[in-house]
Amino acid sequence: TDLAHIRNFSIVAHIDHGKSTLADRLIQMTGTVADRDMKEQLLDAMDIERERGITIKANTVRLEYKAQDGEHYVLNLIDTPGHVDFAYEVSRSMQAVEGSLLVVDASQGVEAQTLANVYQAIDADHEIVPVLNKIDLPAAEPERVKAQIEDVIGIDASDAVEISAKTGIGIDRVLEAIVTRLPAPKGDRNAPLKAMLVDSYYDSYLGVVVLVRIIDGVMKKGDRIRMMKTGGLYQIDRLGVFRPAMQDIAELGPGEIGFLTASIKLVRDTRVGDTITTEKKGCEKALPGFKPSVPVVFCGLFPVDANDFEDLRDAIEKLQLNDASFTAEMETSAALGFGFRCGFLGLLHLEVIRDRLEREYDIDLITTAPSVIYNIYMTDGSMKELHNPADMPDPVKIDHIEEPRIKATILVPDEYLGDVLKLCQDRRGVQLDLTYAGQRAMVVYDLPLNEVVFDFYDRLKSVTKGYASFDYQMIGYQEDALQKMQILVNDEPVDALSVMVHRTRAEARGRAMCEKLKELIPQHMFKIPIQAAVGGRIIARETISALRKDVTAKCYGGDVTRKKKLLEKQKAGKKRMRQFGKVEIPQEAFISALKMD
Ligand code: GDP
Ligand code: MG
Repeated sequence: TDLAHIRNFSIVAHIDHGKSTLADRLIQMTGTVADRDMKEQLLDAMDIERERGITIKANTVRLEYKAQDGEHYVLNLIDTPGHVDFAYEVSRSMQAVEGSLLVVDASQGVEAQTLANVYQAIDADHEIVPVLNKIDLPAAEPERVKAQIEDVIGIDASDAVEISAKTGIGIDRVLEAIVTRLPAPKGDRNAPLKAMLVDSYYDSYLGVVVLVRIIDGVMKKGDRIRMMKTGGLYQIDRLGVFRPAMQDIAELGPGEIGFLTASIKLVRDTRVGDTITTEKKGCEKALPGFKPSVPVVFCGLFPVDANDFEDLRDAIEKLQLNDASFTAEMETSAALGFGFRCGFLGLLHLEVIRDRLEREYDIDLITTAPSVIYNIYMTDGSMKELHNPADMPDPVKIDHIEEPRIKATILVPDEYLGDVLKLCQDRRGVQLDLTYAGQRAMVVYDLPLNEVVFDFYDRLKSVTKGYASFDYQMIGYQEDALQKMQILVNDEPVDALSVMVHRTRAEARGRAMCEKLKELIPQHMFKIPIQAAVGGRIIARETISALRKDVTAKCYGGDVTRKKKLLEKQKAGKKRMRQFGKVEIPQEAFISALKMD
């Protein structure tokens, strides 16, 4: 296809504003998929994505469209993950297209993720077509939302396309807007091959499938190619496009988007953002801005049943086949035995992986407190990255500690603003901005990531009854007064409960954790002290009283069936408990103890 007849675009939206439904309609209206084969959310492959409404891997589909000018166009849609955890992947796929449809729910208006995603599109120099969706709803207020887009985002919304992705109203106008308002790609067919590696995934039949955008030159089946940053050399086995099923094609020219396979074994060998060229006579300069995505949140994953360790290892390896940004190293904990220290791009990423391990691989897990990476500056001038509070060096050898901070953007209806400000302030936030857009306030805070990783989002949802939206980006490291806090159960430190806390918050946090654990750990035949300690100093203490002997004695008497039932119940309960010295701690204690109410 010649460049003038290609349009490449993505759709940016806040979750639930209708991105997937619109993509479905575009696929359907262009006849890409026969009506009888049409099912919902065609581009959302994984079940978990469907349930959570998120797309993790970039997906692409090629649409063929005969426009009102009588010409035939190829429209390539890249559907990008919409969540901040995958910001780097999003920014890469944005670089692969020239324009974006900005979908805003006309009954809701602009939300935090709308902003985060549209700024990425603006950064990538996209032409942006605002699309107001859900105009079939009685609550839709297209005029108000247009004004809001202009006020808050600062782009012209007078030509916004008003649609209902659900009923199909206005989809024809979206297609015309793509052709007439978005620019055609640029590129030189006669130049050496230069292609961007947009994304990749593992397929058990094909091996690694690589999604590419051709910048210059032509890519052909059988070509010997080179990945410029990783140095990998391969021969292209298959070349094709997604419609959305795979369809082979002999070559891909400038401006085109498609896939290749080349007997690549590991997703890790294909770095998002890398430049692909021919092995010989390749292009000279790689595309700018290559940077691997690095994990920012770490936690320990341990099997509840120690016998599941090998299964957990296998499951982690399988998930890593498809997700190179998730890291895992074996870890042993005095309290929890063998497990893995895992790194994630963010909290959502952590939750998705943990859920998949539990659901798809059926492994009961103990998740330890999520931790961020601290930079520990030692008195000898060296710096250590701390991924696990349990590995904290001797405090006397530490000069100072730096922690990562984020810029958080929160949109919230007026009436909840006070609660949101209080929450941010309680979490050591520094207010950067506060503006109004309609009846909603937009607050921007500089917050320590470690105060956000645990339950900030849950708290935000609960204080605003679900009406707030939230997004964040990393801003860098800053020194602060941080300490490691240990929890001792029956005088034994439980390493999996160690956390890094700010000096001003240690006592409250310690007290809250001890109180929680007191509720969560069942009574034993003896008294159990639960203590929080910083350095050698105890800062909080609770005691679980001993179980009175006659209570159990009574249970164990009586008839046989009752006794059996009791034993079975105990056995089932055991599965979810871990033994620490003489004390049994239930699985949920590890996560619940960290929640701040
Ligand atoms: P995404 O998270 O942006 O991909 O949003 P979805 O496409 O999954 O849509 C979220 C919800 O809004 C679904 O329940 C859709 O059926 C619904 N929805 C999408 N478009 C429309 C629309 O035009 N009108 C109405 N009434 N509902 C819609
Ligand atoms: Mg979706």
